[in-house]
Amino acid sequence: MRILVTGGAGFIGSALVRHLIQDTAHEVIVVDALTYAGSMTTLAEVVGSDRFGFAKIDIRDAARIDGVFAAFRPDAVMHLAAESHVDRSVDSPRDFLPTNIDGTYVLLDAALRHYDRLTGEDRDRFRFLHVSTDEVYGSLGAEGTFSEATAYSPRSPYSASKAASDHLVAAWHHTYGLPTLTTNCSNNYGPYQFPEKLVPLMIQRALNDQSLPIYGNGENVRDWLHVEDHVRGLMAALASGTPGETYCLGGRAERRNIDLVNTLCTALDARAPRDDGRSHADAIEFVTDRPGHDARYAVDCARAEQTLEWERTWTFEDGLDATVAWYLEHRYWLRAVMQERCDGERLGLSRQVGEAA
Ligand code: NAD
Repeated sequence: MRILVTGGAGFIGSALVRHLIQDTAHEVIVVDALTYAGSMTTLAEVVGSDRFGFAKIDIRDAARIDGVFAAFRPDAVMHLAAESHVDRSVDSPRDFLPTNIDGTYVLLDAALRHYDRLTGEDRDRFRFLHVSTDEVYGSLGAEGTFSEATAYSPRSPYSASKAASDHLVAAWHHTYGLPTLTTNCSNNYGPYQFPEKLVPLMIQRALNDQSLPIYGNGENVRDWLHVEDHVRGLMAALASGTPGETYCLGGRAERRNIDLVNTLCTALDARAPRDDGRSHADAIEFVTDRPGHDARYAVDCARAEQTLEWERTWTFEDGLDATVAWYLEHRYWLRAVMQERCDGERLGLSRQVGEAA
């Protein structure tokens, strides 16, 4: 297939592109604006392939997006480009609307014009896969899980903008017949994640002998999925999902933030012990909570497991240990993206809180 991947220079997008290029049946074009979160160093493993192409384009640029559709004639669009960091959405909500909402609209509009020109098998094969988050469902108490039937209740500027994009995708299916698929996935971890998100942030700070700041009391619960399992879920949805449907993807690995960080510290103690002989966990520090911090996310992914014949392959503990090992072996990548993108700005905590970091 010829697959157009938006956001392919980011964390999940680049894992998807590596997977697609490994499979010699696919040609890929990445459309990415290379914001602070995207980097060509993240795509180093695939840039040499003659089945890989890259276009530095903002998804809001309708004329250039039309040009990509005309030149590449994709069989599928896999849409991952987004402003993706909740803390940044708390600090600067306005930045999230143009990319997550307007940008999704531009892609749907271009995809529909492209789809309307297709005939026969090309038309039957075409899919628009929209990659979204479980955060659109809001926050859970101690019990229960999110599923495809859960009512939307987004609570952060990030999740509200993603919910809006999900609704646009559904509307383009129901109103115009575009064959769309939407996946709502839990928290991802794994290689090449930009070091402002929890897992790489903690690893990076531990390696620099800095404190390990955790919001509130560390009791917030997230469901964790290895990025490679997420990619396999996206490929399963593309191959056998029903147009117009949504699929929840999760890791069946609920962990409190404090437990996740303690597990990380244990892996770091074994693989990169501190010079002073103390545990990395001694650097854990609780800081003022994020405003509106959702208490708990948990995903029931039974429908995806049954209808897409997909399930996660990594256990959480093995996946996290392998992730720690990857960051230790790829410190050059951490340095490169930090130098390239951050200009020394503070990472990982909302500016409204967490001054302790
Ligand atoms: P990321 O921030 O690592 O990557 C986003 C990519 O999009 C970057 O390469 C960036 O340059 C690009 N981008 C941003 N704005 C753009 C624009 N206007 N035009 C073109 N490119 C633009 O994000 P991620 O963690 O890889 O997430 C990818 C997708 O998966 C997002 O849609 C996110 O909402 C969703 N998702 C993420 C998670 C997670 O845990 N990371 C979980 C569920 C869903």
